[in-house]
Amino acid sequence: MTVRFRPELDAIPAYRAGAAPAARADAVETFKVSSNENPFPPLPHVAAVIEQAARTVNRYPDPTSQRLREAIADHAHVAVDQVGVATGAVALCYQFAHATVGPGDEVMFGWRSFEAYPILTQVAGAKAQAIPLRPDATYDLETMAAAVTEQTRLIFVCSPNNPTGTIVTQTDLRAFLRRVPANVLVVLDEAYIEFCRDPRAADGLELLTEFPNVVVLRTFSKAYGLAGLRVGYCIASPPVIEAVNKTALPFGVSGIAQAAAIASLADDSELQTRVHRLIAARAELESALQQQIPVIPSQANFVWLPLGSASADFAQQCELRGLAVRTFPGEGVRVTVAEPSANERLVDIASRFRIS
Ligand SMILES: *Cc1c(COP(=O)(O)O)cnc(C)c1O
Repeated sequence: MTVRFRPELDAIPAYRAGAAPAARADAVETFKVSSNENPFPPLPHVAAVIEQAARTVNRYPDPTSQRLREAIADHAHVAVDQVGVATGAVALCYQFAHATVGPGDEVMFGWRSFEAYPILTQVAGAKAQAIPLRPDATYDLETMAAAVTEQTRLIFVCSPNNPTGTIVTQTDLRAFLRRVPANVLVVLDEAYIEFCRDPRAADGLELLTEFPNVVVLRTFSKAYGLAGLRVGYCIASPPVIEAVNKTALPFGVSGIAQAAAIASLADDSELQTRVHRLIAARAELESALQQQIPVIPSQANFVWLPLGSASADFAQQCELRGLAVRTFPGEGVRVTVAEPSANERLVDIASRFRIS
């Protein structure tokens, strides 16, 4: 006999993390542009804090991440009891599901969007309501509002959206929230918000008072460049934070991660400079790519190339030239805005690519 697992697990595809570039026999420099990581190494003052914190790992970390939550509260101008932290924003997504849904319930999100949403829905034994994006690759909030049922308990809205880089506007989001029942938790996933420069974009923090069922989700993994340390946070009304905390794994966020996140918030002018550089690189990359292949204007640290049936071919060309990209066969290719030489190589590949 073999171990009997829950039948829901059989239907779950394994999470596909962005692949690293394949090993090569030649001297071509390779780049991992498949996971939307920050290309810059940790700042010296953050690295120093990490080394210092490493000396106390014989102790459990502060289970409440009190100092980190205070730092986030200061940074976001909210109260400490409005802040929750976990081992990455992904962990919080799972906690939102644990806190809201069970078998028979429904979780709604736009699609295509962040790949964790359908997986965590299935793990929870719930049903996914995946509402197709509009032709311009934006969330279709009108259709989503109309599709809410008695069973809908949790809704994810990702802005800027992974993998399309598109935003929902504050106007559209507010109209959407007015239509969603107040007992449904709406997660605004702002994993890429630091890269957003569109003044019309949704601003979750501004909506919290008006809509106590909204939770804003953010991470230190992307703009703050701490993906390997696993810290994410959420901001919401205190009852939402309380529910999320009840579903947390104890002692999740390590002392090293807490210290590094606090240090990153305390002195973030260099981080802001880096974000500006990536945004400038994104603009350059987009205008160069536009001459060659279809590209959706992005508000995140990646570009979405809606190549349809040519996606796999294009990804293969990238792979041959040492760029590991994220392919969604039949739909498109997502490429992280990275080091200048990686960005330049992408433009070169696009300039030689013929869509058949
Ligand atoms: C990267 C990402 C996250 C979270 O990442 P963590 O590393 O778990 O903090 C959350 N949402 C979206 C849409 C992402 O792309």
